Amino acid sequence: MAKLYFRYGAMNSGKSTALLQAAYNYEERGQHVLLAKPAIDTKAASEISSRLGMTREVDFLLGPEDDARAVFAEHRDRVRASTSAEVACLLIDEAQFLTAEQVDDLFRIAIEESIPVIAYGIRNDFLTHAFPGSARLLAIAHSLEELKTICRCGRKAVFNGRVVGGRFVFDGDQVAIDEGANGDSAPELTTYESLCGACYLQESGGRLG
Ligand SMILES: [Zn+2]
Repeated sequence: MAKLYFRYGAMNSGKSTALLQAAYNYEERGQHVLLAKPAIDTKAASEISSRLGMTREVDFLLGPEDDARAVFAEHRDRVRASTSAEVACLLIDEAQFLTAEQVDDLFRIAIEESIPVIAYGIRNDFLTHAFPGSARLLAIAHSLEELKTICRCGRKAVFNGRVVGGRFVFDGDQVAIDEGANGDSAPELTTYESLCGACYLQESGGRLG
């Protein structure tokens, strides 16, 4: 029996870098991995991109309506057909954007197909609420590991402050990824800053969520 792993952290905690490193470690030993991410993340379309500069195409994207297990099986069969090898690991980036049902499918893949699934994602949104995929992963993953990053004050960052036009904002949709500033009516660039609890409360005026 394999396990479902959730490696979570605030923005900029090196999740994509860790994922690409994990893929490399498998492949260095001659093993095959599959890389996937939810299609909702428009930041880099079908790429996993590390802030250190490495990028790599995913093997498949999962739309919100997609049956994760069926899509995985299709790609597992493709690997079998072309290499006569089994998939050694399924690696998921931006796992916070998965649906709860898709996380359940990842759990079944680990248990019933004995393929380790390692999901990387952000635990909470800019209002400190869990993303749907993360809430489900925190509930059922066999293994939880926090990837740490540092707040501007030096403490461990646990929240993701949303910054629009240079100011923290505490209203808006859960997902607003780099909408960009193209065209006359385009919104101002949205960025995020990883914050510790104390700095978050200071910026929000004491508000959580
Ligand atoms: Zn701080």
